[in-house]
Amino acid sequence: SKDTDLEWNKAPCRFCGTGCSIQVATKDGKVVATHGDIKGEVNKGLNCVKGYFLSKIMYGKDRLTTPMLRMSNGKYDKNGDFTPISWDAAFDIMAEKWKASIAANGPESIGMFGSGQWTVYEGYAASKLMKAGFRSNNIDPNARHCMASAVGGFMRTFGIDEPMGCYDDFEHADRFVLWGSNMAEMHPILWTRITDTRLSNPDTRVAVLSTYKHRSFELADTPIVFEPQTDLAILNFIANYIIKNGKVNKDFVNKHTRFRVGNTDIGYGLRPEHPLQKAAKNAGNAGGSEATTFEEYAKFVSTYTAEYVSKLSKVPVDQLNEIASWYADPKLKVTSLWTMGFNQHTRGVWANNLAYNIHLLTGKISQPGNSPFSLTGQPSACGTAREVGTFSHRLPADLVVANPAHRKIAEKIWKLPAGTIPAKPGLHAVAQNRALKDGKINVYWVQCNNNMQAAANLNEETLPGYRNPDNFIVTSDPYPTVTAQASDLILPTAMWVEKEGAYGNAERRTQLWHQLVDAPGEAKSDLWQLVEFSKRFTTDEVWDAEILKANPEYKGKTLYEVLYKNGHVNEFPLTDMTEKYPGYNNPESEEAGFYLQKGLFEEYASFGRGHGHDLAHFDHYHEADVRGLRWPVVNRQETRWRFKEGSDPYAKPGTDFDFYGNKDGKAVIWSLPYEPAAESPDEEFDMWLCTGRIIEHWHSGSMTQRVPELHKAFPNAVVFMHPDDAKSRGLRRGDEVKVVTRRGEIKTRVETRGRNKPPIGLVFVPWFDASQLINKCTLDATDPLSKQTDYKKCAVKIVKV
Ligand code: SF4
Repeated sequence: SKDTDLEWNKAPCRFCGTGCSIQVATKDGKVVATHGDIKGEVNKGLNCVKGYFLSKIMYGKDRLTTPMLRMSNGKYDKNGDFTPISWDAAFDIMAEKWKASIAANGPESIGMFGSGQWTVYEGYAASKLMKAGFRSNNIDPNARHCMASAVGGFMRTFGIDEPMGCYDDFEHADRFVLWGSNMAEMHPILWTRITDTRLSNPDTRVAVLSTYKHRSFELADTPIVFEPQTDLAILNFIANYIIKNGKVNKDFVNKHTRFRVGNTDIGYGLRPEHPLQKAAKNAGNAGGSEATTFEEYAKFVSTYTAEYVSKLSKVPVDQLNEIASWYADPKLKVTSLWTMGFNQHTRGVWANNLAYNIHLLTGKISQPGNSPFSLTGQPSACGTAREVGTFSHRLPADLVVANPAHRKIAEKIWKLPAGTIPAKPGLHAVAQNRALKDGKINVYWVQCNNNMQAAANLNEETLPGYRNPDNFIVTSDPYPTVTAQASDLILPTAMWVEKEGAYGNAERRTQLWHQLVDAPGEAKSDLWQLVEFSKRFTTDEVWDAEILKANPEYKGKTLYEVLYKNGHVNEFPLTDMTEKYPGYNNPESEEAGFYLQKGLFEEYASFGRGHGHDLAHFDHYHEADVRGLRWPVVNRQETRWRFKEGSDPYAKPGTDFDFYGNKDGKAVIWSLPYEPAAESPDEEFDMWLCTGRIIEHWHSGSMTQRVPELHKAFPNAVVFMHPDDAKSRGLRRGDEVKVVTRRGEIKTRVETRGRNKPPIGLVFVPWFDASQLINKCTLDATDPLSKQTDYKKCAVKIVKV
C-alpha cells in the first residue's frame, strides 16, 4: 500500500499449525490489511486464502463486547435470556459457583477446556491456575481431539515429544508420502513448497494415501485409496517388505533402536456399558509391553504379506510394492507426512509408532529430506497444548502429573509447597463431557474453542452436560458460537493482535507478537480473564488445610499472589519495551500484561532449558528480523534436525544419532497389529462417514464464516459422495438428504462433484457449518492410549428427504 499512515508489524497467522509469518497493517486503531511476510522462513511471502483475509476476522457484526449472563427477573437463571453484565458481576457469580462446587464436591468437580489456539502465556496461566491454584488436573485442550495420538507416538518411540525434522525437509526429499493428510487444503502453504519441489525436479515423486480422493491427489504420482483403518496393516506390510528384501539398515538398527511388543489398554475408549466397547476384542497383547528382538519383530510383521494386506485394504499389490520400494531404497530420501488421518484413529498412537518403525528400520530419520513428519492442526498445538502441558496428564516440557519427581520440579519452579499439584491425571476432553452429563463436573470454563460443535456425539454426550441444571458453564469467545449459546455465562474475548501473543508451530518454531490494536468494547484477553479471576480466591478457600499448616506463609494469600506474582514470574529484567509501552515495567499499570507475559514466558522456558527443550529469551523473539526460532535454541542458534550429531546440540559427540529422550539413547521399534475400527458399515448403516476441514474455513467456522469472501466461497456444508452411490439411492447432485447414524442425524445436500471424490461406500462431510452439526452423528470412540477421538470413521446411511 502507498498509504503512509499505515503501520506495519509482524505477527504469525492465527489459524493452522503451519505458522506462516504475516505483516499486519494498522490504521486508526484497526487492522486494515495483511499480507504474507516476505521474510517469513515458513511461507516466503505467501498466504493461503484464510491468511489473506485475516484482517477481517475481528470485525464480524456480532462481535461480543460485554459479559452476558443468562438471567430472568434480575437474577441468574439457567433458562433465562443472555443479559449484559459487568466484568465484576461476571467474576462474582463465577467465584460463587466455583467456591460452592469445591466446598461441596472437591476440586475434581471443576473443569476447564482450552485449545492450541491459546497463546503460550494463556495456556501456561490456565494450566497453573487449574493444577496448582484450584488443585484440579481437569484441564484439557482440544488438542486432545487433534494431536494427543501424535504425542503418544513420540513419547513411546522417542521418549520426547515433537518432530525431529523441519520444513526444510520439503526441499530435500526425493519422495513424499502423505498418510491420510490433505495438505493441499489443511497445510496449503507447506503444500506449495512440496509442489515446487515436485515440479522443479522431475525425479521427485509424491504418493497420497487416503480413504477418499481429495485435492492433494492432483499432485500424486501414486494415488492410493485404502479401506478405513487398514493403514495399520499397510505400514506393517512396508516393514515386512523392507525386511524380506534385505533393506534393513542394520548398522543403524543395531546402534540406535530396540524392539518392544504390546500395548497397555484395550477397547475403543467408549463408556464401559457401550455395546461396541463390550464387544471390543483387543488384537494386541493387553496388559503392558515387553522387550522383544529383531527376529521376533520380523516374524510378527511377516504375516502382513502383500496379498493379505491388499485384500484387507483394497489397494492393488503393485501399488503396495511401489510405495514400500521407496522406503526400502537406500538412495532415496523419504519424507512421510500425516495429521488427522493417523491421529483421529482408534489406534492413532500405534499408527504414529508404525510410521516411525519404517523410518527407523531404514535409518531414514533426522537428516535433510529423511523425515517422519507429524504435522499439527492448531496454530499452537505444539507451542501451547503440548509444550506448556495443558493436557490433563501433563506439566510443561513433557513432565507428567503422575510422576512425583516431575511434580516436585514444577512445584520448585513455581515456588509452591510440596503436594500442591495433585498426582491423579485429570479427565480428558471426552471424559469431561461425560462427567458434565453425569454431574461429576459441576463448573466448567471453555476458552478458545467451540466444543459444542467440535465434540463427537454431541446429542448424547455433550449438550446434556452443558444444559444439566446442576452445572454452571462459562465460555470465553469473541463470537456467540453454539458453545457460547449453550453456556450460562459468556465472556467477550480479545483475539489475535488485540493481545500479546506467542505460538509454537509444527516444526518447533516459536513466534511472538505484540498487541497492535485494542479489542472492542469490554473484550479482554483470556490471560487477563484468568489472572483477574485468580484474585477472587485465597489459598484458605481452595487448598487443603494440611498444606497450609505445613506452609503457613501461604495462608490467606490470593491465588493471584501465589501463582502470578510468585515463582520466577517477577524475576526477569524488563528493559526493552518501556519506550513503546510506558507502563511495561509497572505491574499495576495498564500495560501490566506485558510484564506478566514476559515473566510467564521466562518462567515457563525455565522448565525446558538444559533439557532439550530450550527456548530463546523473550526479547530475542521480538527482534525485528526474527520470524520465530526452532527449539532447542542454544547460544542463540536454532535446531533444524534433532537427534543428529552436529545438528542437535544435545546429541552426544561420537553417537552419530542420539535419541536422548530415552535413557539408552535408542528409539523403539514397536510390534503392533492391525485392529478393526470401532464401528464399521453393516446392513442398516451401510457406508463409512468421514469428517474433516476445507481450506476456506478454520475449524468450526466461527471466524472464517464472518469473513464475507470466505463465507461466500463455501457457505454451507454438503455430503460428498460417489455418483454411483447417489444413483443407487435415487439421488442427484443438490438433493436434500439426511445423514443418519445410530447417534443422530443432520440434513444437508448431496455433492457428487468437486474437490472431494469418495470411493463407493464412503461419504465425507466437513464440520465447519454450525447450521449442520455433523458431530451429532460421529462416534465418541477414542484411542485407548491417547484418548483422542476418531472422527474419521463410523457407520452411516444416507436417506432422501
Ligand atoms: Fe499459513 Fe495456515 Fe494461515 Fe494459511 S491458515 S496462511 S497455511 S498459517
